[in-house]
Parts: sequence; C-alpha cells; structure tokens
Amino acid sequence: MSGMQRVCILGATGSIGRSTLEVVALHPTRFEVFALTARHRMDELAVLCDRWQPRYVAVGTPEQAQSLRRRLAQTRARAEVMHGARALEELASHPEVDSVMAAIVGAAGLAPCLAAARAGKRLLLANKEALVVGGDLFMRTVRQGGATLLPIDSEHSAIFQCLPSDHTAWSRHIDHILLTSSGGPFRAREPETLHDVTPEMACAHPNFVMGRKISVDSATMMNKALEVIEARWLFDLRPEQMRVLIHPQQIIHSMVVCRDNSVLAQLGTPDMKVPIAYGLSWPERIESGAERLEFATLGGLHFEDPNPRRFPGLLLAFDALRAAAGATNALNAANEEAVAAFLSGAIAFTAIHQVNAATLDSLAGAFGSQDTLEDLLALDERARAAARVHVKAMAR
Ligand code: NAD
Ligand code: MG
Repeated sequence: MSGMQRVCILGATGSIGRSTLEVVALHPTRFEVFALTARHRMDELAVLCDRWQPRYVAVGTPEQAQSLRRRLAQTRARAEVMHGARALEELASHPEVDSVMAAIVGAAGLAPCLAAARAGKRLLLANKEALVVGGDLFMRTVRQGGATLLPIDSEHSAIFQCLPSDHTAWSRHIDHILLTSSGGPFRAREPETLHDVTPEMACAHPNFVMGRKISVDSATMMNKALEVIEARWLFDLRPEQMRVLIHPQQIIHSMVVCRDNSVLAQLGTPDMKVPIAYGLSWPERIESGAERLEFATLGGLHFEDPNPRRFPGLLLAFDALRAAAGATNALNAANEEAVAAFLSGAIAFTAIHQVNAATLDSLAGAFGSQDTLEDLLALDERARAAARVHVKAMAR
C-alpha cells in the first residue's frame, strides 16, 4: 500500500486498541489515525483524541458524547463526536478509511465488521466473537466486498504467516493445525478446586494483561474454544483438522502440520504488537516495538494436551462446530452472559461452563441457516435470554 494509511480503531481504549496505537506511534509517516471509538474509559479517550487528532470519534450514548464534547473543548482536539451503534458502522465503512482495527469485545463488534467488509476495507480482526457469531455471512461479505481480512489473534496470525502465499493450495498441503494455548492461570489446578475461583484470580493471566472478558475466557479455555471456531472460518478447515496444544511459555504462537509431517511454526516473544504490526503492514513487515526473542536465554519449551475435565469448554466448541449452523452463535452468546455473571459475582467460575452447555441443550432444534445480520442477532438475543434463565438457576 502506498501513501498514508488512514486507520479507524474500533475499541481504542481497550488492550488491543492501545497496543495498536503504540505500533502506529512508531510510524508517523505511514499511518494516520482517522477515527477512534470506545464505550469505556472516556477520560482516556479524551487524552487519545488530543494526542492523535482523529477526524471522528464515536462513543456509546448521547450522554457520553455530550460529556466528551465538553472535555474536548478544553484540548486541541477537533474531532467530530458521534454516538451509537450506527456510528461504528459509518466509521468502519467511511470512504476515506483504508484500514479498520476491529478491537471491540463480543458480538457487539459484528455489525461494524460487516460494514467494513462490505466496503472492501483492510480489516484487522481481533474481535474473534464476530467470526464465531457470523462466520458464514462474515466470510461471504469479505469475499463479495473485496475486503482484505487479516487475523490479529496471535494464533491465527501465526498460522496465516506459516501458510503458503498461494491460498488456494492450503487444503492440499495441510494435515492439521495446532492452536497453542498458555493454559491460563489454572493450567495445573485440580478441576475439583476451581469452584471458589474469584474474578481477580481468573483475570491474572500468566503472560498478558488483557480485557477482563478475554482473561476469563483464557482461564476457562473458552478463548481457545472460540479460536477453534475462528480458525474454522478463517482457514476453511474441518473440525478434525484443528487441535489444541498447551504451551505455557507462549513462544510458539501456533503451528501448521503439513501432509509430509513437516511442521511450520511462528515464534516470538508474547506481545500482541507483533501480529498488530503484521496486520497493519502486510505483505510487508515493519518495526513492532516488541522485544526480540533471545533463544539462548529461553530455557525449555513445554507442551501438553489439555485435560478435558479441567477445560470442558473445548469439547463444547467442537460439538457446536459439528451441530447445525447457529450453534456457535448461541455458544458465544451464552458465554458472554455467563462471563458477565461470573465477573459480577452472581455465579461460580465452574458455572460458566454449565450455563454454556445448558443453553446449547435448551436451544438444540432451534438452530438453522443464518443468512442475515438480523437472523444472527435474533438468535444471539434468544440464546442470551436462555442463558440468563440458567444463570438465575445457578446463582449463588
Ligand atoms: P478490552 O475490554 O480491553 O477492550 C474492548 C474495547 O471495546 C474498549 O475500548 C471498549 O470500550 C470497547 N467496547 C466494549 N464493548 C463495546 C460495545 N458493546 N460497543 C462498542 N464498543 C465496545 O478488550 P481487549 O482485550 O482489547 O479485546 C478486544 C478483542 O480482541 C476481543 O474480541 C478479544 O477476544 C480479542 N483479542 C484480545 C487479545 C488481547 O491480548 N487483549 C488478544 C487476542 C484477541
Ligand atoms: Mg489468541
């Protein structure tokens, strides 16, 4: 890509949003921050607007917009302040935007992702839930819109980097992929002792500081479950072509096992700035600001299979992939509700899986083809309602 790349960052105050701005800051002649959006940390958003001078900024509610306008009036920022879900779609598809970083958490990111895909943008996808909810429609929209979809999730970026550039040849070369996982903070805990885990314990990830939702997902390994579904869509793989491997050091970010048993891996220090820089610069490579790997000081790399008793969510994801279309959407909705209930103290850590499994059970038979965003959102809402009933029944 030549000239200045105009970037829209959806979820700018989050962990991925902030790392994106750190990479952008290293390349002032390459990237221009055109739009920022956020729903939380409004003080920080005001500081970002002053620092980056975006043309547009979007927040959640009219009240947030009013208050941000007042704050910006005290600064040099001249951004036009917008609000609401439609504003995200407008900015993601704005004719002057080249690249969209999709770093909203949850199904709420699907509509702006689809808008960016339809408008043929370079779409940097961190928001894995969007693909879990609407994989088929999402990938069709990317193709029809002529968008360039670049994975930001470190595992999917790793696989993307290992695959041959002739994408049509993938399926002939691959036997399976190995998605690596840190195993989270409870990798070595006995499953029977997980009942009393608190949100603070669950959010204490061994290698990363991330948003609270993905941190809890890492502790249950639902994050890896969602990533299996994400990989299914990104790389057009069958369930039997995807395996999960625990690798606590997170030096290998994922691997591709070829037909001839040659294994391709992508390595690096665990730092999201690497996949973000690759997404921003592909097919080139630019400085990321991440530390370089020093092999001589690494020590050993460890690998183990996940214990399905400790991490039952993984099997649920494979079941959902094999079930009728819509099951993965319902699984994601249930998980978002269950994680929110756990973080608010309403249910136990182990109840997250119970809510997810019970929701899928209670909706079995309700799944079917999901051709439009409205179909997807209707099922999402139905699954959330079912999950809330299960949350209530399991409340402590
Ligand atoms: P986060 O909670 O730190 O940030 C989320 C951002 O989205 C914030 O700016 C927040 O204000 C905004 N947001 C939240 N809900 C919204 C809504 N309903 N509408 C509009 N905006 C909303 O999350 P994160 O850790 O940065 O993760 C973002 C996404 O990237 C998630 O899908 C996560 O799974 C994925 N991801 C994160 C990491 C990581 O290291 N943090 C790694 C891989 C993938
Ligand atoms: Mg990941």
